[in-house]
This record gives sequence, structure tokens and C-alpha cells, in this order.
Amino acid sequence: MRESHSHAQGRGLTSPGSRAKLVEELRSLGVKDERVLTAIAKVPRHEFVDPAFQAQAYKADLTLPIGHAQTLSQARVVAVMTEALLAGKPSGKFGRVLEIGTGSGYQTAVLAGLCDTVFTVERIKALSETARRRLAAMGIKNVHFGYADGTDGWTSFAPYDGILVTAGAEALSPALVEQLAPGGRLVVPVGPSGRQLLKLISRDAAGKTQVQDVATVSFVPLLPGKQ
Ligand code: SAH
Repeated sequence: MRESHSHAQGRGLTSPGSRAKLVEELRSLGVKDERVLTAIAKVPRHEFVDPAFQAQAYKADLTLPIGHAQTLSQARVVAVMTEALLAGKPSGKFGRVLEIGTGSGYQTAVLAGLCDTVFTVERIKALSETARRRLAAMGIKNVHFGYADGTDGWTSFAPYDGILVTAGAEALSPALVEQLAPGGRLVVPVGPSGRQLLKLISRDAAGKTQVQDVATVSFVPLLPGKQ
């Protein structure tokens, strides 16, 4: 995309075509779940970043700034995480999902298209409020926003069929695993800032857990407290 940033929106960026190209790129990178690709095709990713970055919004491998020293995750990482979460339910809609780290709300919007209800928690008030307004303007109604430190989940609405953490945790919090419903799945980057292993923790009907490594990823850190 070579158009000048200030004109980006007027030159077809908003068209489903740019999303279709992103979907093809994700497919070529190995993303297979059609439900995830369809959900990504429906969300106008450029609307989650400032105008200056909108021309880059449909590249699969770019992390984009969203202010407050935070970033919108790469589309590829959003796809891989969502795919890992949904793999536990081969058909039909996913139930209740908790996202930790609302950020721009992009991953939230993708999840909203795939799940009955999304609970999303963010520790930076300005980001939480912007994301809430953005999703409301898009007509997305099945999301509950929380402004809180989500390091140990969001107990008020537990248990969840899925939990997705979009910031890197130094260590796996047992509190998150406890908030999984039987058959639930937790997707979480674990490790030091910028260099984590994406882990998938699945809980069986008897409550027994299994841990798998999915990919190497680079996330901003999960931080304590509110701001
Ligand atoms: N899912 C986001 C990714 C944002 S980056 C998106 O699609 O845009 C990670 C986000 O996690 C940041 O907004 C950061 O403020 C938030 N975060 C970090 N630690 C947190 C915590 N303990 N509780 C809630 N949110 C947290």
C-alpha cells in the first residue's frame, strides 16, 4: 500500500477487498480454521488504529502502536491464538470467553463474532473506554468491558469456556486455570517481555489439565495495577 496516510481511508482501505487479501496472507501462513478466517474478514482492522497507521493495518505480520506504550497484536498472532482457542470446539459457536488485555478491542471484536459472550478486561482506562465506544459504534453487543487488573482473571463472571491473554505473563497463574469450565481452554503467552511461548492449557471434564506449546510470540508484558 503506497497511498499517503492522510488519504488512506478514501482509497479502498475500508473495502472488504483489503480484508480478503489479509485472509489470503493468513491462509498462506498456515491458518486453517475457516471460522477464524471468516471472523477476521468481517472486522475492519484499520478502524482500531490511528489514521497514520491505517495503511499498515492489513499486513499479517505488523504490530501497530495504539498509544499508552501498548500495541495492536499482529493479525497472524490474533489468528493463531483464536484458532488455538476454538480448536476445542470443532463446530458450532463457542460459549463464554474472557480476554485479558482489551487494548484496541480488535481481538475482542474478532472473538465477538465467534462466541456467545466475550468478557474483556483492561488495566488502562483510556484504552478500555475507546475500545468500548469503538465496538458499540460497530454494533457489537455481546461484549462486557471491565476496567481492572486482569492478572488473575475476572472471577465475577467465571467460569469461562475459553480464556485468552493478550499480554505476556511471567508465569502461568493458577487462578486463570481455576476459572476454566470443564472442557475449557486457556491461551496465554508465558515468558519475559517480548519473548514468550504461547501456551494452550486445556481442562478436561474431570478437571485435569494438559499444557501444550503453540508458538513463539512477542507480547508487551502483563502489568499489575490500574492506570
Ligand atoms: N488484544 C489487544 C492487544 C493489546 S496489547 C488488541 O487486539 O489490541 C496488551 C494489552 O494488555 C494492553 O492494552 C495492556 O494495557 C493490557 N494489559 C497488560 N496487563 C494487563 C493486566 N494485568 N490486566 C488487564 N490488561 C492488561
